[in-house]
Amino acid sequence: MKKVVKFGGSSLANAEQFRKVGEIVRAESSRVYAIPSAPGKRFPGDVKVTDLLYSLYDAAAAGKDFSDILAQIRVRYQEIIDGLSLKAPEDENRPFSLEPEFEKIEEALRTRPERDYAASRGEYLNGILMAAYLDYEFIDAQEVIFFGEDGTLDAEKTNQMLRERLGRTERAVIPGFFGCGADGRVRTFSRGGSDITGSLVARAAKADVYENWTDVSGFMVADPRIVSDPQSIDTITYRELRELSYMGASVLHEEAIFPVRSEGIPINIRNTNRPEDEGTWIVESTCQKSQYVITGIAGKKDFCSVIVSKALMNSEIGFCRKVLQAFEENGMSIEHMPSGIDTMTVVVHESEFMDREQRVVSAIHRGVKPDSIEIDSDLALIAVVGRGMKSMRGTAGRIFSALAHAHVNVRMIDQGSSELNIIVGVENHDFETAIRAIYDIFVTTQI
Ligand code: ASP
Repeated sequence: MKKVVKFGGSSLANAEQFRKVGEIVRAESSRVYAIPSAPGKRFPGDVKVTDLLYSLYDAAAAGKDFSDILAQIRVRYQEIIDGLSLKAPEDENRPFSLEPEFEKIEEALRTRPERDYAASRGEYLNGILMAAYLDYEFIDAQEVIFFGEDGTLDAEKTNQMLRERLGRTERAVIPGFFGCGADGRVRTFSRGGSDITGSLVARAAKADVYENWTDVSGFMVADPRIVSDPQSIDTITYRELRELSYMGASVLHEEAIFPVRSEGIPINIRNTNRPEDEGTWIVESTCQKSQYVITGIAGKKDFCSVIVSKALMNSEIGFCRKVLQAFEENGMSIEHMPSGIDTMTVVVHESEFMDREQRVVSAIHRGVKPDSIEIDSDLALIAVVGRGMKSMRGTAGRIFSALAHAHVNVRMIDQGSSELNIIVGVENHDFETAIRAIYDIFVTTQI
């Protein structure tokens, strides 16, 4: 059994959290490769080390004095070193020190400040620290994670180099979030990207499990800011997760599922503060039924629907293409497209649409000469997702009766062709009420 374990920033925010991580890693000898994020928030209102590093870069790039910010970052790591009473690996009588690393960082920022380099140092330093604490080898991500000329991940080269390097290393710490650009300089993933590093390591190591340790016990059926104390999800498929994350449920970086998915490696989301919880399993497919017909509910506000009507639209060849072209020409991405016989609705993000609205409308007029174009704003979309829905009669009926009872007006319905989800559009101001009503009908009444 081989496990890759990734720890998020809150799991490594201070010495106390580091100790919990140490216990988790040591509890199972199968936890052979560890990926740390940079230290996160220690308390609400605290600043993540990565955010401090971005400010550090901004100051350095503007030629301003950055010694104050650098001092704050030093203190964050020193607190951890002192709290763990970490000793220098080569000499037990001396305390462990990151000072030589800080000197290099300071020098680099003075002479040639680079944004990605600066941001990556949070994970880099935490990786060195964690390797010393666990007594694991440290592998610099710049030697094993590669980006191509276009700035995106070079998955093949990465897999090859990582596999080769891990083959020579029994236990190692590989810092998350960054790698090596085509020009040989440090490059980072987008925010939260340590999840991707963990997934890449799991793929290359052919791990049995990719454990992703955070500060929640996995995915919840609904957003805990809306539904109080929601149930957690035991098992979710990659496809369900994709639907829910697209609609705003965020625990894991969206791109993190691809490397492990292609190898059939399950992801287990775990809670560093409650290691006894099983967490959520993310799997390719499962015969396990979801506990409540639905697996999860997620949603987002501030969409806008553009309803194009024309009699006999269905028999007009190329109608849809021309309507969509009007959006494409104006650089708009489309979120959903429910359609009727004589109407076609295009749902877009309100913020993107606002300043292009009239250009899109006139392009549609020119393209298809519709009878009317109606624009509805302040639309919230809610996705009810579940692999169990297609074999269960009455799911849609239950959603709509729950919404009717809660006096929520449904403005749009779209059922994905996979029967994995039903998307309902409601007014922005009904969003929270609608989510609670759907949660209650499927979950609360079943407990
Ligand atoms: N430290 C980076 C961030 O805050 C990456 C990560 O935590 O995954 O976005």
